[in-house]
Amino acid sequence: MKNRYLKLSGLEPLIITPESNFINVGERTNVTGSRRFLRLIKEEKYGEALAVARDQVEGGAQILDVNMDEGMLDGVHAMVTFLNLIASEPDIARIPIMIDSSKWEIIEAGLQVVQGKCVVNSISLKEGEEAFIRQATLIKRYGAATIVMAFDEVGQADSYERRIEICERSYRILVDIVKFPPEDIIFDPNIFPVATGMEEHRKNAIDFFNATKWIRTNLPYASVSGGVSNVSFSFRGNNTVREAMHSAFLYHAIQHGMNMGIVNPTMLEVYDEIPKDLLEHVEDVLLDRREDATERLLEFAETVKGIKKEDSSKQLAWRENALQERITHSLVKGIDAFIEEDVEEARLTVSKPIQVIEGHLMTGMNVVGDLFGSGKMFLPQVVKSARVMKRAVAYLQPFIEESKDSTTSSAGKILMATVKGDVHDIGKNIVSVVLGCNNYEIVDLGVMVPPEKIIEVAKKEQVDVIGLSGLITPSLDEMVYLANEMEKQDMEIPLLIGGATTSKAHTAVKIAPKYTNSVVHVNDASRAVTVVGNLLQENNKVYKEEIRSEYNKFRDQFLNRTKQKSYVSIEEARENKLLIDWETTEIVRPNFLGTQIIEDLDLTVLLDYIDWSPFFRSWDLHGKFPDILNDEIVGNQASELYEDAKVLLKEVVDKKLLKAKAVFGLFEANSVEDDIEVTLNESHAELVSASHPVNKKKKDSIRKFKFLTLRQQLKKKEGVPNIALSDFIAPKESDKQDYIGCFCVSAGFGTAELAAEYEKNNDDYNSIMIKAIADRLAEAFAEYLHKEVRTSYWGYAAAENLSNEELIKESYKGIRPAPGYPACPDHLEKNTIWEILQVKENIGVELTESLAMWPAASVSGYYFGNAEAKYFGLGKIKEDQLEDYTIRRGISNDLAKKWLSPIIAD
Ligand code: SAH
Repeated sequence: MKNRYLKLSGLEPLIITPESNFINVGERTNVTGSRRFLRLIKEEKYGEALAVARDQVEGGAQILDVNMDEGMLDGVHAMVTFLNLIASEPDIARIPIMIDSSKWEIIEAGLQVVQGKCVVNSISLKEGEEAFIRQATLIKRYGAATIVMAFDEVGQADSYERRIEICERSYRILVDIVKFPPEDIIFDPNIFPVATGMEEHRKNAIDFFNATKWIRTNLPYASVSGGVSNVSFSFRGNNTVREAMHSAFLYHAIQHGMNMGIVNPTMLEVYDEIPKDLLEHVEDVLLDRREDATERLLEFAETVKGIKKEDSSKQLAWRENALQERITHSLVKGIDAFIEEDVEEARLTVSKPIQVIEGHLMTGMNVVGDLFGSGKMFLPQVVKSARVMKRAVAYLQPFIEESKDSTTSSAGKILMATVKGDVHDIGKNIVSVVLGCNNYEIVDLGVMVPPEKIIEVAKKEQVDVIGLSGLITPSLDEMVYLANEMEKQDMEIPLLIGGATTSKAHTAVKIAPKYTNSVVHVNDASRAVTVVGNLLQENNKVYKEEIRSEYNKFRDQFLNRTKQKSYVSIEEARENKLLIDWETTEIVRPNFLGTQIIEDLDLTVLLDYIDWSPFFRSWDLHGKFPDILNDEIVGNQASELYEDAKVLLKEVVDKKLLKAKAVFGLFEANSVEDDIEVTLNESHAELVSASHPVNKKKKDSIRKFKFLTLRQQLKKKEGVPNIALSDFIAPKESDKQDYIGCFCVSAGFGTAELAAEYEKNNDDYNSIMIKAIADRLAEAFAEYLHKEVRTSYWGYAAAENLSNEELIKESYKGIRPAPGYPACPDHLEKNTIWEILQVKENIGVELTESLAMWPAASVSGYYFGNAEAKYFGLGKIKEDQLEDYTIRRGISNDLAKKWLSPIIAD
């Protein structure tokens, strides 16, 4: 009976092995537990209700508890509606559902619509064996796991003996009569409040611990779960005590074998952080260690009521703790002020310096890993922990070399690289740091890494996993190419795929079929840890097969879905173009025509134009700025991160650490079919105020360029046009002179040097931070310059007065689409922009062979001024447009296919 693990799934599997961390069940989608959720469901605001679910998933919940048990609700309807909605949100549906109800009809309705393998919460012997057997049989038939409450005909189990009696009886009925798979049974042996003042409640916690241990020892393969916040019920209003109580309870319960449960992560103190005196009082109660434990805790509770955790008098109290606790504290909190001192103290207690790494530091990092794994710690904190770890290791390095210790054993070796032609590495670096925290050895090859080099190093270093990253679409093909090469060379190293343009669909459809070994799409750091852990476990065959079949299934579904889409020919699409009445359209002639350069913009100008939401997203914190700062779950972490960012940003601005440059131009233009013909009339250059030499040369010469746009070919509903960007420009035959602009801005000059400097100091946190800030400044520059163009250089919206919020919402007239983005996915257009604006010569921003911009913190695009111009998605194009494009571009069909491959319909 090997491998009898509890296996659940949403879109992704959740396999609970003995090595798994505690499984955290999200509970906010529960009408009995959350007043807000209840209100949303009552008012049928399902969109917002889904956001609650999404927050839970993003906050680290691994299972989602859904409960619709409320007198005023049609529970069946609410459950079915909500589960159906979840099913169409892949980012939520990725985790398994726990259908939570005391009414069987609601449970069964849920079972009929839920996808994946869910958990029923719950059944019990409350109404006798017959009902229990009937329900269990149905659950088995629906293929779900179930929670079994310690409840029978007599009542709820409230002692150690009653708990084991009921659980054993339930287990025997399930396994022997119903033939229920034992690994699909999860017992909830009742968590009841302690310190209530009632004598019979004194053993509530310890009985739970012991019963848990008994179940895990005597009822093979069964799991144990529970709702933790119950235990502290008598301390409502005193969060300091409640948080300590939850943590201490969990600590002991997990040690006794509880492997999943409902825990509110915001109501949890880190066990090692609980002040010693408080912990002692709490544990006296939980473990029933003293007659007067309850009175003593009640008394003590009054003294800690309302104490803020950051209370300054307590701030350094942790320095009094024992050595290991101090080291763990520094790692968990990311404090590096004392780490060298503590590591030195540790070094003097061991015979070989390496033992400090393997002992003290790894003990601390394991705590970090557990907290992160269970959603109680967030990415930025983990990266800070890694910084402390690195500094500690750097301090020890000379001693290790001196004593000629061999290096520590790692959990595995992982090669990380951003593929050829691509320059973005924030995500890759974050994943590297987090994997490093989990004791993996990282071989980071940096950015723009050619495939031959990846393969060569992978072989030489005998790595266990290769992680590939990329942000722009040409990188997708690079990944396919690499997978193909690895296959040809019979390599067997699993591939991880990540980065902004990658997707599970692309991985499943294009990469996985090229490579016999495992290929997994991983887009966030916490999942990377789980996936790598699963790939590298000793018996990974089952996991690998599951991944493979999951991706095969995903591919088939995806291809089926796309096959059902219908397209029109390019002629038909052109017939159905967006029609603008050029007779009545007023076209504003730009105040200046020609090219202009901004050499060194004062960065303070940009501060008001920053859009912060994507900044948090790059750190895996999801939510809208500024609300995210007060978010129930990630609020504290987001605020801390924001403070850190502002400190660095101020330094960048004050000391002018980064340089921002731009070049842009406004030109006469008209459309000819799907092309936009641009005329650079150098005599216009007289109007240019900039004195840059490039602008002065070649007076009176006229140069012509062509922007190639692509047209939507998806069959539209009656009355909906098939758009191309060229529709927004007056056609030549209209006899109206129109205009277009283009630009490139960068705030990236100096980023690489600063990042390298931070890395030299073992400071990955700030190395990632500076890149994220540079990206923000570049986007802010694009926003600022666009506004200047609208209101002044072009001047068609001179009276515009929009707040930053309105700018972020794109409320302005006109657009600035960027090649490589949905309306114009053709990266080759950047070559034209570079030629027109002489971007490289003027400001030094270069294009890589995949047409990524270097420095990475750069943005380029066109300016369209027409009021009807809007951002849209091109979608896929058909073979006929590809052929037409090949001719217009004057390149070979193969080359056209290569550049446009992500948008060619299969
Ligand atoms: N405020 C955001 C902007 C993100 S979108 C930020 O700070 O990150 C970045 C740019 O992509 C936009 O400014 C625009 O140039 C371009 N863009 C957005 N949607 C597009 C579309 N559908 N097609 C082409 N370009 C688009």
